[in-house]
Amino acid sequence: MDSRLLEILACPVCKGPLLYQRASEVLVCRIDRLAYPIRDDIPVMLEEEARQLGADDPLLDRRT
Ligand SMILES: [Zn+2]
Repeated sequence: MDSRLLEILACPVCKGPLLYQRASEVLVCRIDRLAYPIRDDIPVMLEEEARQLGADDPLLDRRT
């Protein structure tokens, strides 16, 4: 995914920054613990399409 695109994307819920998890093809909001899917290189920035993550989900870890 285009890194410039990532820079302008923000979480639609909290307007906060997103963490791109390349291996899982999701954009993660660590504040809301939501994982937004990326379909065909298009981030789906809809709260109802996002997956709620558990507090210990590895996708929340910046190092993975
Ligand atoms: Zn958020």
